[in-house]
Amino acid sequence: NAVNRSIDTKTYQQRDAAHHLHPFTDYKALAREGTRVITRAEGCHIWDSEGNKILDGMAGLWCVNVGYGRRELADAAYKQLMELPFYNSFFKTTNAPAADLAAKLAEVTPAGLNHAFFANSGSEANDTIVRMVRHYWNLKGQPDRKTIISREYGYHGSTMASVSLCGMSAMHGQGDLPLPGFHHIDPPYQFRDGANMTPEEFGLAAARKLEAAIHHIGPDRVAAFIAEPIQGAGGVIIPPMSYFPEIQRICREYGILLIADEVICGFGRTGRWFGCDSFDIQPDLMPIAKGLSSGYQPISAVMVGERVATTFIEEGGEFYHGFTYSGHPVAAAVALENIAIIQREKLVERVAGDIGPYFAEKLRSLEDIPIVGEVRTMGLIGAVELVKDRKNRTFFERLGATGTICRDHCFANNLVMRAVRDTMVVSPPLIISHDEVDELVAKARA
Ligand code: PLP
Repeated sequence: NAVNRSIDTKTYQQRDAAHHLHPFTDYKALAREGTRVITRAEGCHIWDSEGNKILDGMAGLWCVNVGYGRRELADAAYKQLMELPFYNSFFKTTNAPAADLAAKLAEVTPAGLNHAFFANSGSEANDTIVRMVRHYWNLKGQPDRKTIISREYGYHGSTMASVSLCGMSAMHGQGDLPLPGFHHIDPPYQFRDGANMTPEEFGLAAARKLEAAIHHIGPDRVAAFIAEPIQGAGGVIIPPMSYFPEIQRICREYGILLIADEVICGFGRTGRWFGCDSFDIQPDLMPIAKGLSSGYQPISAVMVGERVATTFIEEGGEFYHGFTYSGHPVAAAVALENIAIIQREKLVERVAGDIGPYFAEKLRSLEDIPIVGEVRTMGLIGAVELVKDRKNRTFFERLGATGTICRDHCFANNLVMRAVRDTMVVSPPLIISHDEVDELVAKARA
């Protein structure tokens, strides 16, 4: 953990401040407070240019599932870069890693999702889905089915279509969004909305908001419903087990497409391969990204079920959509090796049977802190909800201020946790050790 002497912190901070517009950043605050230059990483830790060792409780941005410093992934990239660094899959060509990855994904994803459309990010995957959904209903002779329903606090990306799917009012405020054709319903956020109900009752009531919205919009105008199995960036909102079966019933009854956004939940995070496996969801379309390559390469995919795939293949003609780097051979080779690591090291089983329960127990130990209203976890994703008054579940008046203070305090204390409003969220690499879970919880408490 020596300081990387080749990095001069001040130089990089100055260059960064002068020329780098960061995503999701208040530029004035950044200029005031400065940046930390991250120089290297290993396992569950990252190092900054001053030599500080920081525990990464977020696996980057919920993505480095197999941990940092994996030589196998670097070797897979190097080998593929030397053999075929790029060739596209437009115009009747393919490459071996893209074909192998599509087949592998058909094997590991839930039954019925047998086709992969590749892109580079979760946002692009969801943009692709919006186009697929509209194209599908046009092909079916129901062009009025345009509206896609999603949820408050859902996060689906930052492009114009994917941000319209998001249920984040702050994001919508900056660009006359959402676009027309997007509608939002309440999330299954029992801590906020369901204090007087059992989880079973609350899950059903929350799901039925979808049915009410369908009636409000008109059943023959609704195209699809999209949901993350667990809402991640919206504050790790874990639905009661009664929620998704009812959602599924409603989607079937009204014929609307069901989209499960697995960008965070996929590849072991919930203790099953996919959140759909944890909640018994059978989606028509499923975006995946992040854990697909553990963040070692930018790659995403839309997994397409038979209902949509058959229509596209049989009736669709040319689908005028795709990206230069769709099915990029290097990204695909890395994703394949990443999946091989998850299988070889039985990381999903490890989350379900060993480290997930330990993480849940340890994170719950924070419930003795007076401002902790609730701790919720599933697999290796968790939330610590901070409140003014936990008995009455009263939130702080300036929502977000306490979370920001706690996040900054953790970071100063060399722990990465994120704050969503006043909810501290955590999503470490799936390889995290018991000692590292202890370190995470001890630093969070400090
Ligand atoms: N969908 C979900 C559930 C996400 O959490 C994210 C990113 O956090 C996205 C989509 C967007 O992915 P990306 O940032 O790769 O565009």
